[in-house]
Amino acid sequence: MSAYPHTATAPAADTCTEPLPVLGRDVTVPLVTGGEVTYAPLDYAASAPALQRVWDDVAAYAPYYGSVHRGAGYLSQLSTDLFERSRSTVHAFLGCRPRDQVVFTRSTTDSLNLLAGALPDGCEVFVFETEHHAALLPWRGHRVTCLDAPGTPREAVESLERALAAREPYGPALVCVTGASNVTGELWPVRELAAAAHAHGARIVLDAAQLAPHRPVDVAALDVDWVALSGHKLYAPFGAGVLAGRADWLRAAEPYLAGGGASRSVVRRPDGGLEADWHDTAARHEAGSPNVIGAYALASACRTLTEAGFEALAARERELVARLRAGLAEVPQVRVLSLFGDDAPRVGVVSFVVDGWNSSHVAAALSAEYGIGVRDGLFCAHPLVRRLLGGAPEAPAECGAPDTAPGDGPLNAVRVSFGAGTPDEHVDRFLRAVKELVRDGARWTYRTEDGRCVPDRG
Ligand code: PMP
Repeated sequence: MSAYPHTATAPAADTCTEPLPVLGRDVTVPLVTGGEVTYAPLDYAASAPALQRVWDDVAAYAPYYGSVHRGAGYLSQLSTDLFERSRSTVHAFLGCRPRDQVVFTRSTTDSLNLLAGALPDGCEVFVFETEHHAALLPWRGHRVTCLDAPGTPREAVESLERALAAREPYGPALVCVTGASNVTGELWPVRELAAAAHAHGARIVLDAAQLAPHRPVDVAALDVDWVALSGHKLYAPFGAGVLAGRADWLRAAEPYLAGGGASRSVVRRPDGGLEADWHDTAARHEAGSPNVIGAYALASACRTLTEAGFEALAARERELVARLRAGLAEVPQVRVLSLFGDDAPRVGVVSFVVDGWNSSHVAAALSAEYGIGVRDGLFCAHPLVRRLLGGAPEAPAECGAPDTAPGDGPLNAVRVSFGAGTPDEHVDRFLRAVKELVRDGARWTYRTEDGRCVPDRG
């Protein structure tokens, strides 16, 4: 298939001392105090802006869009080819072993739920309480051991080893662990955890939702059995995610969704029942019409990040993280949340609380008065954030009230996160804003509406 230009013309940034071009970099938003500023999206850990290059690739392909798989027409064949090439691109990007499967899903949550449905009977699951809910919750119907938050990466490995050594040695087991925390940004010792899992006859799935946008993920080198990630955190917000890894459990499992595309043939039995013969390939778990554009966008992001070079991207990000943390350290009222301590390697995700401030108030003021988008709350990692906050109870505080319960720590936190598209100015503006808010207070009044803090417009 050659009629379609496979990559768009927009060049990637020459060097990663500059941010990679992303959509929305010139978008302005109104301030409650008057005027407009360019929007500073500092919520990459939730969803990152689309890379310009991804958008250009998608736009260049869109006129060629066609039905995938059995379509006989030229554009159907081209689209099928593009979909399968996208699978190969992701396979290479993730450093998969030759026989690993790449299944396109909707997201990390979807990928981990798919894997949960493919666990053999009697499989035990081991997770740390520090995980995102997407990694804590899909394993219903299996015995789940939830390990305490470790204080160091070494403790994590030792704690996992102890737990695995204590289990029945012959049954199947799965460890699910994040590569980078969506709360603290800290990197987890994935290779060592994988070695511990395998030494005790368990398998391991890496939740790379936060790792993949910031660092290379090499499935073979890390020796993880599967990896899960989301396109929308990888600068490709077109509804695709990935589960990649060992084929055996996936092949032996019932299809994630039953329907067209997953089945090789379906016959009506003489007794009136139905019998399906399911595919052995990734298609087994991809029933229904696939999200070609999502898969292509994800593959385009993989290519763009690879071309930009993770080393350069990570070096620039490390500088910004250091600048951000040093700036926050200058504000005595700010406490940054951390599990592994100041020296731990981390990606561009930092959560914090401000003494005497409700975190939703901080987040609302950053948005309304400075045009900065951050997140407040427990970040779908309730056990971890509650532990880091000192056992915060459930009920949210009223907006504007200090964010503490009597005798307890703060109720929720603020999270600031960034990545390859973030200019220095966004981090600088954020630091200036936090310092001004803490020193002078908010310039506007805020009230609680549907549990959220919003500017009071009278
Ligand atoms: N794992 C981690 C570490 C995450 O940060 C997230 C998203 N915040 C998820 C899983 C779930 O990702 P998604 O919402 O794309 O399914």
